[in-house]
Amino acid sequence: MAPLLDRLGRPVEDLRLSVTDRCNLRCRYCMPREVFGPDHAFLPRSELLSFEELSRLARVFVGLGVRKLRLTGGEPLLRHDLPDLVAQLAVIPGLEDVALTTNGVLLRRDAAALAAAGLRRITVSLDALDDATFQQLADTKAPVGTVLDGIEAAREAGLDPVKVNCVLQRGVNDDQIEALAGWARDTGVTLRFIEFMDVGTTNGWVRDRMVPAEEVAQRIGASWPIEPVEPDRPADVAERFRYLDGAGEVGIIASVSRPFCDTCTRARLSAVGELYTCLFAAKGTDLRELLRSGATDTDLAATVAAVWGARTDRASELRAEAGLTGPRVEMSYIGG
Ligand code: SAM
Ligand code: SF4
Ligand code: SF4
Repeated sequence: MAPLLDRLGRPVEDLRLSVTDRCNLRCRYCMPREVFGPDHAFLPRSELLSFEELSRLARVFVGLGVRKLRLTGGEPLLRHDLPDLVAQLAVIPGLEDVALTTNGVLLRRDAAALAAAGLRRITVSLDALDDATFQQLADTKAPVGTVLDGIEAAREAGLDPVKVNCVLQRGVNDDQIEALAGWARDTGVTLRFIEFMDVGTTNGWVRDRMVPAEEVAQRIGASWPIEPVEPDRPADVAERFRYLDGAGEVGIIASVSRPFCDTCTRARLSAVGELYTCLFAAKGTDLRELLRSGATDTDLAATVAAVWGARTDRASELRAEAGLTGPRVEMSYIGG
């Protein structure tokens, strides 16, 4: 079968499944408490795709070319019995990888069960190593030690190397660059710094708050000399650097300053089953209604193929050219 390509010739290879819109943190750049406070109406359970619906859709996407799945949210570990979903996904023929992105708070509880269910890789988001900055940024009383212990639990469970993603904001946590890089060098986790993006409309993004990749590389290189490493595959979003002293690698994701839309092979499914073909899309295509009204797998595949086939998204490149305007979906809704 010919690969499914969008209008710019990009195949669909990666699928991000958001399994919940809820979270146990309130990171100010993602779910600020003023917006996501006690009065916020989160989705009722009946609105969320069931594990059976999620696995069925995953199979349809794999049939169209997807090779990698990533579970995200909100906070995916808040979804009850998540290892059961991992187990259902891990056996899909043709799927090469099932991964998870988490804030790590509940990872000590779940790491072993996730690994046993067939999870291959885990990414933990960690924006600071000191308690005050972490607690301020994530708007939580939990100490950063909870996340560090979660990372340790994942490694003990065999999910090694753990990837750690850090979103940098100038004046908020850019003083953590060296501490995080030094910690990652010592512990052997794979660290990646990410440019703060103007996703959604509630996080108060201003360009000056974004720390450009080039500056991050310079800062790290000033402490420990680094050199660039060739990417393994074109769709890899992280620019990798090797420490010249042999202490491993560090990655930087330049989503804003050096956008990579031309190799973007990612589809995203919200927790209610809407298909988004770009992180910056204003709206998605409802697949749940189809699922719940008796559509066959062939019908579902035809809808996904039509949406992907019409895709022209390149929002980050357009932003680089002209600046983004207009409504767009929140990060906690489609999971980053
Ligand atoms: N709750 C999980 C977590 O924090 O890892 C998964 C969902 S979270 C939305 C996925 C990732 O999106 C996190 O690594 C978070 O740092 C990142 N993120 C959220 N808002 C962002 C923004 N405005 N710019 C860049 N990354 C962002
Ligand atoms: Fe929650 Fe993740 Fe968003 Fe933080 S980044 S508020 S942990 S969903
Ligand atoms: Fe992909 Fe959209 Fe991000 Fe470009 S802006 S890399 S098309 S998700």
